[in-house]
Amino acid sequence: MGVLVVSGPTAVGKGTVVSALRAAHPEVAVSVSATTRAPRPGEVNGQHYFFVTDEQFDQLVADDGLLEWALVHGTHRYGTPRQPVVDALARQHPVVLEIDLQGARQVRETMPDAQQVFLAPPSWDELVSRLRGRGTETEEQMARRLRTARQELAAQSEFDVTVVNDTVEHSVEQLVHLLGL
Ligand code: 5GP
Repeated sequence: MGVLVVSGPTAVGKGTVVSALRAAHPEVAVSVSATTRAPRPGEVNGQHYFFVTDEQFDQLVADDGLLEWALVHGTHRYGTPRQPVVDALARQHPVVLEIDLQGARQVRETMPDAQQVFLAPPSWDELVSRLRGRGTETEEQMARRLRTARQELAAQSEFDVTVVNDTVEHSVEQLVHLLGL
């Protein structure tokens, strides 16, 4: 029980794995982040993210309403709303945070008991093809994300555990085990 951080490079499949985990174990509280980026087609406010303006994000930071936050890919800010995490833990529900590396580092400082999982791609080529396959980014956005991904891959050793995301089922199985479910 407690907080499980799932981090890893862009497009490794964090979102898919965490959604599948939640589907299999509805008692797991998956944090919904606030972000200043625009919704992608199909994304629902309050479900995938809380889509907020820069001003609203400033306010969340000023109010100490975020457990951690980061500027991701040099473009938009993302953060974990604090209160839902506190509430879920109070109700004895495990909490999963799907966040970037900078956020994972902050949580390592503020919540040293949190388990830190690095979700890794089976290979660099596989990561590139997953990013291209998503097809929602421009070439420039993609080049930026790949640069970030290279740096992110190098941070694997900071984490307690590496889970290689070869299949969603396999990754979920390992997260379930780590959560003690
Ligand atoms: P995307 O824009 O593809 O949904 O997410 C981009 C990146 O932002 C992903 O690496 C994701 O893990 C990260 N991210 C999403 N929510 C948060 C958050 O609340 N905090 C931090 N630090 N990173 C986040």
